[in-house]
Amino acid sequence: MLKIALSKGRIFKETLPLLAYAGIVPTEDPETSRKLVLDTNQEEVKLVIIRATDVPTYVKYGAADVGVAGKDVLLEQGEDGLYEPLDLKIAHCRLMVAGPPNLPPPPRRLRIATKYVNVTQRYYAQRGEQVEVIKLYGSMELAPLLGLADYIVDVVDTGNTLRANGLAPLGDPIAEISSRLIVNKAAMKTKSQRIKELIGQLQQAVADKATL
Ligand code: AMP
Repeated sequence: MLKIALSKGRIFKETLPLLAYAGIVPTEDPETSRKLVLDTNQEEVKLVIIRATDVPTYVKYGAADVGVAGKDVLLEQGEDGLYEPLDLKIAHCRLMVAGPPNLPPPPRRLRIATKYVNVTQRYYAQRGEQVEVIKLYGSMELAPLLGLADYIVDVVDTGNTLRANGLAPLGDPIAEISSRLIVNKAAMKTKSQRIKELIGQLQQAVADKATL
């Protein structure tokens, strides 16, 4: 049995063609099905539909053998106990500081609202800046609008969400983000042949997509 952990939405949609290239096609659509374990055309391969931030946890503990996770999630949670053998080059975005343009420096430590608390603390520590990091779980753009924080750290794709809320990206990206294939360390040994075959097929799919 090979269990592949995926989150719904953009990652699922963009991973499907790569899996198809590896000969794996789900028999149900997770956007319409309420099932969380999806069968595929290969009897021994199942797709497990999980929240994006839970994918590394399932793979780390071996509840899923492999998974697809955003680099933003991996940077935030740490990659101990996981192999990350392949950049799938999908779901691209940038992890950025953003805020109101031309904000005068506040007469206290900067307040940064984010769900990426660890990444943000590391980023400012490396720059030697002392900031106050405020953990949020969503709608980060609201924080500067309501005066909860000066800036936010979030993933930005087109920048439309920032612009619609009067915010702009500030400075260079903290990190370029794409989705990665992650593999449970024990499974890499016990299911070595099957997982290496999958990695090879996905590698080929990514390379062929790049030349299209
Ligand atoms: P944007 O295109 O910049 O307006 O992005 C819209 C929202 O979607 C952002 O606030 C992000 O939270 C989210 N987002 C965009 N791209 C990604 C991605 N690759 N992974 C996760 N979230 C994303």
